[in-house]
Amino acid sequence: MTRADPCAFAALAAEQLINGFGIAALPVDPFAIARGRGIEVVPKPSRDAGVSGMLIRVGNEFAIAYATHIDNKPFQRFSISHELGHYFLPGHIDAVIGTNGIHESRAGFTSNDRYEMEADRFAAGFLMPRHLFFPALERAGRGLAAVESLAALCKTSLHATAIRYTQCTRDPVAIVVSVGSRIDHCFMSEALKSVDGIDWIRKREAVPRNTPTFAFNQDVENVRRAVRVDETSTLQDWFGGSRSVEICEDVIGLGSYGKTLTVLYDIALPDDDEEEDEGFLIESWTPRFRR
Ligand SMILES: [Zn+2]
Repeated sequence: MTRADPCAFAALAAEQLINGFGIAALPVDPFAIARGRGIEVVPKPSRDAGVSGMLIRVGNEFAIAYATHIDNKPFQRFSISHELGHYFLPGHIDAVIGTNGIHESRAGFTSNDRYEMEADRFAAGFLMPRHLFFPALERAGRGLAAVESLAALCKTSLHATAIRYTQCTRDPVAIVVSVGSRIDHCFMSEALKSVDGIDWIRKREAVPRNTPTFAFNQDVENVRRAVRVDETSTLQDWFGGSRSVEICEDVIGLGSYGKTLTVLYDIALPDDDEEEDEGFLIESWTPRFRR
């Protein structure tokens, strides 16, 4: 992850489209938007479990097929939005559709292919456009409860919603997706990234041992049965550094997805300026005697 986000434009493009369509309330309906453009949307079981959907071109006509082997409405809505990303983003149609007129997608933040990543970011911006998502986020509370209420509002998966939450919130928060003892991926909010003296959590690193997430992942049944725990850990457990700060750690199993979602929040960062001000106050209150 770098400061200059190469895929950010894809979410912006989606938000501009939603704005241009005059959509002023959540949830966004990708079926209706596709059909409004004359794009047929059809369910299709896939033989390849990794394929989330397809964009099909016949001449100048387009159709979207979405995989039904994953019986998950939020994921299907995300998959259709991903295909719309290929349809709307400049250069995608020519780049992704093969000579057979078909593009097979692997949506859901699992691919490292540039076009798949851009279409995923488009889908997130499309279903959770910032201008509608941010006001809802401000009313949604904190932590996993906020992610759950936003997911219900946007009809999006907990995973996609949690990622969007880190991109739109003003608070220092992070979400971590893990499998067993390994971190699969992590997203940190801008407010957390700008904190000095913390280590960024990275892919493929170990889940820190003394955290609720580590304990949770010891039992695969927790993941399968979508068990949920609200606990606490510390800033150092996850991010190193010298600050002893207790933080909230909500953990939930993502069921058949086979992964665990952790939301780290309520991170009360010691304000350096405040400490300085306090020092200044103490000094100014210390009587000084003339000799
Ligand atoms: Zn794709």
